[in-house]
Amino acid sequence: MGLWKYGNKEVSQEEINRAVKALQKDVCFHCGIGKHTDQCPIFNLIIEINNLKSANQPPDSEH
Ligand SMILES: [Zn+2]
Repeated sequence: MGLWKYGNKEVSQEEINRAVKALQKDVCFHCGIGKHTDQCPIFNLIIEINNLKSANQPPDSEH
């Protein structure tokens, strides 16, 4: 299990997964719960985190 750098913080995979889950479930002022649009800053943050994850994953861990 690796560590990712986000800004100047190091975060574990568990922390990233927890953050993404929280972001997906949390109240969003732009869209409904779990239905973020691509205009949504929360959605864009989720994408950014997922990109960060996949950028640091070995290439054989695709799903
Ligand atoms: Zn949203």
